[in-house]
Amino acid sequence: MGKIYCCHWLRRLFSRVSISFSVVLGLFAMSAFLGFAADPTQADGTKSRQNSLTWVGYYDPALNYLSAKALLRFESPMIERRLWLDEGLRLNAINSGAVAVVDLNRNSGQFLLQGQNTDELEISYNGRLAPASDPGPMASETIVGRTEIQLDRFRFLSCIKNFYPHTDMDFGNILLNISVSNEWNCLGSGILRSVRLQPGLSTYVFDNAGAKGMSLVFGRFSQIGLIDAVIPVRLHGWPLFNYNWYFPKADIARILTFYHERFGPLDVPELNILFRRGRHFAGVSYCGLIVLDVDASWTSFSIHTRKNIRSDSLLAMFDAKIDVLSHEIAHQWWGGLISWKTPVENWITEGLATYSSLISLRAWRGEKEYQRIIDRLRRQVKDYADLGAPVDGFQLLLSDRNPKVYQALVYGKPALMLAALADKIGEMELCRRLQIILNDRRKNSVGTEDFLRCLSGGDEQLQTLLKKWIYDRGLPKQL
Ligand SMILES: [Zn+2]
Repeated sequence: MGKIYCCHWLRRLFSRVSISFSVVLGLFAMSAFLGFAADPTQADGTKSRQNSLTWVGYYDPALNYLSAKALLRFESPMIERRLWLDEGLRLNAINSGAVAVVDLNRNSGQFLLQGQNTDELEISYNGRLAPASDPGPMASETIVGRTEIQLDRFRFLSCIKNFYPHTDMDFGNILLNISVSNEWNCLGSGILRSVRLQPGLSTYVFDNAGAKGMSLVFGRFSQIGLIDAVIPVRLHGWPLFNYNWYFPKADIARILTFYHERFGPLDVPELNILFRRGRHFAGVSYCGLIVLDVDASWTSFSIHTRKNIRSDSLLAMFDAKIDVLSHEIAHQWWGGLISWKTPVENWITEGLATYSSLISLRAWRGEKEYQRIIDRLRRQVKDYADLGAPVDGFQLLLSDRNPKVYQALVYGKPALMLAALADKIGEMELCRRLQIILNDRRKNSVGTEDFLRCLSGGDEQLQTLLKKWIYDRGLPKQL
């Protein structure tokens, strides 16, 4: 499948300079595009959920070379297992549970193992990962743009790149022990359990905090700040990078506090935010880890004007920087704590992250600004509302190459539905119901029907109206 991103492009003229902001809105939608449409149904049609993964590996970011041993445990014994693994990696040994690789169609990233009837499997593998192990349009290589901007060079071992074998992307426990040359720093999703520094090599142990998959990022960054917020935030980036120009600590703390009040606590003890100098404002969110691209060119001509970065983009609400920040932080709840059941239902995580940004702005900027943004969003969604429905999900990107259609229907329309629901039952009542969903379905993938049932609070008439918003084309006037 080609590269399809959940991003949008924001453009605005600042004096005579044209800048583009790409906003990658959340990793949690991206796995939809890279093969996780498969459910854990095995060759004989039965299901086998993967319970845990224990992984020990070595990674060379310069060569993108990986060597690892993985122990997978399943909830029930089976003779056959269908697994995903990056096609650049070759299996060296199957140490338990299987005797033969039956079907090695590695071009699809999937293979079938057959052997003993067992509930665990140990596999050793190595190789160079397919290039561009980087989420979305955020380039991992150093690129010198027309303004000679220094960009940061990072490597990602992302869960969507299949660097570890798995049957399906779902919530589950991962314990990961990775060694890397100590020229590189490493951040991971979940919880960092330990770091062991040896001559030439650092070994990190991460626990994924029961989230959906696990991702790592490598680079020559260091910790450059700490925020004593409702959850401690560690800030990382190029040592001299002045993040406060772009993302003031007070904004990060304010947004976190707001979501914490509305949606309850997270399951990670701290949040890591890594800033990367790039050519646009963008973001990607993993459980406990956010990577924010910062448009370094912005500094030179408008940092001192303190102007908001506005655009005609559908998802630009107030200021592109703040919009990216609040959207990605919201994914710590919507994506980090619950997620969609099937990729076409990613309106759940994207719509909720978009709505979260809206109410965060409402609390910060006031009712008038909130109404202005809602009215604008409504006009924009209306333009595309007859081209599909939110439940078409990422397929909208395949059928219509205009990402605005996808953003309007998967991000914008569900957010408007939630705003309409808040008008009807009150924002606090809506947030109370959202908290119930986060508690009852925590660390689970939720389907559209189930989500809307919970949202309607037992009101069947309301549930029918909510379904119209998500399953049907068009834009209802209200709820
Ligand atoms: Zn998003």
